[in-house]
Amino acid sequence: MKAQIITIGNELLIGQTIDTNSAWIGSELSRLGFDIYRKITSRDNKDEIIDALELSAGKSEVVLITGGLGPTSDDITKQALIDFFKTRLVVDHEVMAMITDMLKKRNLPLNENNRRQAEIPESCLVLTNAVGTAPGMWFEKYNTVFISMPGVPSEMKYIMHTHVFPRLKSRFMYQNILHRNIMLYGIPEASLAELLASFESELPGNVKLAYLPSFGIIKLRLTGTGKNRDTLDQVLDKQVMKLRSLVPGNIFSEEETTMETVVGTLLRQNGQTICTAESCTGGNIAHLFTCIPGCSDFYKGSVIAYDNGIKRKVLDVPGEIIERYGAVSEEVVEKMAAGARLLLGTDYAVATSGIAGPKGGSELKPVGTVCISVAWEGGAATERHVFGNDRVININRFSVAALFMVWKQLSGMVRHP
Ligand code: ATP
Ligand code: MG
Repeated sequence: MKAQIITIGNELLIGQTIDTNSAWIGSELSRLGFDIYRKITSRDNKDEIIDALELSAGKSEVVLITGGLGPTSDDITKQALIDFFKTRLVVDHEVMAMITDMLKKRNLPLNENNRRQAEIPESCLVLTNAVGTAPGMWFEKYNTVFISMPGVPSEMKYIMHTHVFPRLKSRFMYQNILHRNIMLYGIPEASLAELLASFESELPGNVKLAYLPSFGIIKLRLTGTGKNRDTLDQVLDKQVMKLRSLVPGNIFSEEETTMETVVGTLLRQNGQTICTAESCTGGNIAHLFTCIPGCSDFYKGSVIAYDNGIKRKVLDVPGEIIERYGAVSEEVVEKMAAGARLLLGTDYAVATSGIAGPKGGSELKPVGTVCISVAWEGGAATERHVFGNDRVININRFSVAALFMVWKQLSGMVRHP
């Protein structure tokens, strides 16, 4: 089952408007099991729109089109559709009534432009638009369904939810489509692909694997299609079990979620608390925790110890240790975590100190170096990692690395000494 997307508008090509419509449509349709096979962005030019339509015809079951349906003269999509489908415009009385009603509610007069919006190509099925004036249109030609919708994202989404998804489901969804999301951390994507090469080649024909990486976290998504839901469930369960044995210790969730949510859930279950002492991450880990509703159950607070003076005065890190080993060192983060844990009275504390960049690196401690320590009653775990050169990406990667260290402790993946 293939789908294509055509987005129309000069503004999309010159970067004035970011084409979020195709991203949204692509992600929704791929969840329904469509293979999104091509996307074309066209200017507001009749011949070029017809070119795009001709290129798409017969190449996929569905073509979704957005943009250029408005009442202004630069909105030319309807003219292109008329020519392409060799049809003519007729007034649609239901659309006319909806437009009149909407304008009346807004206290606006009905003008010639509005009247033109009620003129609809004769050969299409009208997809009414209760949140705007341009309706959507459903055409069929060359074994392909063409759906044209307004460019305004909220109107496009309304028409997709109200008309398009139900129709596509009843027409094309004779198969079940099930997903499994496996969240992993700690293996680079290329190494993971190597590790999973034979797993992937042995997958049954109706199961596909996708890698979706972000800040070191990789979401592995298994998508299965099949007529029988229970059988499909079992097939996917078996593949998930295989994955578990191939990457033990790296899977932090078998649901689509964030690492901080998983850490928070474990802490809540254990009735334990955590705090943060952040130098290079500057409160980012605190931010990630505090985005979780109800995090006060387990998250107590943070000391943003960016300056060495704060590390000393607030967290009690001895000045001589900072001097001897440098602020970015295992010795210092260990003291930061221990100091924060005592100060804030929590079961765990996690501390970071690193060089986010782009400047400030040295041969021994290049940009992207981070030291992280997790402290608990009577113990600590400390690690050093080196990531890349981009400051914001580093801050995110340091944060995820710190959360993973906490997860390792909580999940029993490493034993307390
Ligand atoms: P209307 O019914 O409002 O006249 P329209 O079909 O004429 O809609 P456009 O004129 O092309 O749509 O665009 C309307 C608005 O939607 C503009 O602000 C435009 O930037 C935005 N828009 C158009 N296409 C996209 C897209 N692909 N992604 C995000 N925004 C879009
Ligand atoms: Mg436009």
